Amino acid sequence: MTISHTESYYAASAVGMADYSQISGSENCDVCVVGGGFTGISTALNLAENGFDVVLLEANRIGWGASGRNGGQMGSGLNWSQAELEKEFGDESAHALWNLCELAKQEVIGRIDKHRIPCDFKHGVMAAAFTRKAEMKFREVESHLRKKYNHHSVRIVEREEIGELLGTDKYWAGMLDTSSGHLHPLNYAIGIAGAATQANVRIYEASPVNSYKREAGGYTVTTANGGVVSARIVVFACNAYIGNVSRKISRTIMPFVSCIVATEPLTENVARSINREDIAVFDSKFCLDYYRLSSDRRLLFGGVEKYIPVDSGNIARSVRPRILHLYPDLKNVKIDFAWGGKIAVTRNRLPSVGRIEGDIYYAQGFSGHGVALTNIVGKILAEKISGTAEQFDQFASIPHKSFPGGHYLRWPAHILTMLSLSMIDRINSRLGGIR
Ligand SMILES: Cc1cc2nc3c(=O)[nH]c(=O)nc-3n(C[C@H](O)[C@H](O)[C@H](O)COP(=O)(O)OP(=O)(O)OC[C@H]3O[C@@H](n4cnc5c(N)ncnc54)[C@H](O)[C@@H]3O)c2cc1C
Repeated sequence: MTISHTESYYAASAVGMADYSQISGSENCDVCVVGGGFTGISTALNLAENGFDVVLLEANRIGWGASGRNGGQMGSGLNWSQAELEKEFGDESAHALWNLCELAKQEVIGRIDKHRIPCDFKHGVMAAAFTRKAEMKFREVESHLRKKYNHHSVRIVEREEIGELLGTDKYWAGMLDTSSGHLHPLNYAIGIAGAATQANVRIYEASPVNSYKREAGGYTVTTANGGVVSARIVVFACNAYIGNVSRKISRTIMPFVSCIVATEPLTENVARSINREDIAVFDSKFCLDYYRLSSDRRLLFGGVEKYIPVDSGNIARSVRPRILHLYPDLKNVKIDFAWGGKIAVTRNRLPSVGRIEGDIYYAQGFSGHGVALTNIVGKILAEKISGTAEQFDQFASIPHKSFPGGHYLRWPAHILTMLSLSMIDRINSRLGGIR
């Protein structure tokens, strides 16, 4: 196998990584899944458990994309608040979507337990209010979740307590959800891929799909190295890395790069002083910062967004000031790893799930919320294909618009919007978060 994972803390601390061979020659199966991230693996695993014969084709390595590089935060709900969902889609759909998101977390935790996946799962995710306005919004959200959704694992953390928990005075307040959590994402991907193999999914790495064609009774999927898979049904789970395989699918997503660094291991005292309860944190900025500790007490800190490929030195230089803004005492701490990964966002920041051309399914655009959601979407795609799912319609009925400008010209407009929003973040930061 010549393809490696991107150099990251996760790749360096991966456990039990298997080498799957490249496809050669022809294969037949019920379902061909394209993409070996959480979405593809979860779909393949659930299908195999439902008795389907499945081939999974991954262009690089299992977990090579966003799934093996992300912040590891498994949050509750979607990118919209429940009140926003109720206003747009009505009470019933908002409740159904909330219930799906709750099932998503249970699916991840259930898989970790069932397959004994060593991915360092811990409970607790804090949303930290960077401005007074965000604090007010969190208070509303928390009260709404408790009253209308019976969600009592969420609570407001007042200014003094969040200061003690996170060792910084930069936040107005926080909203802590102990039903959420954080994990080592690459080890989770490796774990569910192992479970899929046990369930007889045939996984191939270094097998990029470059075309597909409709044939009598199904589809023929072809890889760049000459592999051919004949399948009744195809599932595309390529997310931001989809490239040109299907413009019909990729037109509703916009890829951008989010960057993360891992510091050298901190001493136990320092680690406790900046994150006493070992929870994951994300803040309320539009271009948000997200961070947590690894199991060997490194600070994993992410957030800077890039629109062109950048090297790890550049990433470390961009992220370090954001760490020091919160933790000036870490000025001499070394950064051991710096990497980026592509996130796919949709225009409305809700997942894009659907079916085209007969029996081609796709799921993508989790908009930075995929750790939990990909896993439930994989399960409901499998249920839909098995003919038992009503829940598929919850996600499939969310309307999605293409990005304006088509495949190439969508970029400039998106970058301008993102740059102006990050400018607002910077102004807020200079004003000390008084807005
Ligand atoms: C830096 C970063 C931080 C993030 N932090 C968080 C977080 O803290 N919490 C959260 O919930 N979400 C987070 N996300 C988002 C989350 O990681 C994604 O939503 C999720 O991993 C998407 O999974 P996926 O399987 O759909 O896509 P990916 O994991 O990107 O997998 C797609 C796979 O498809 C393969 N592929 C593409 N084209 C082809 C082809 N033609 N043939 C074969 N294979 C192909 C790719 O090689 C890739 O492995 C983050 C993402 C990034 C990049």
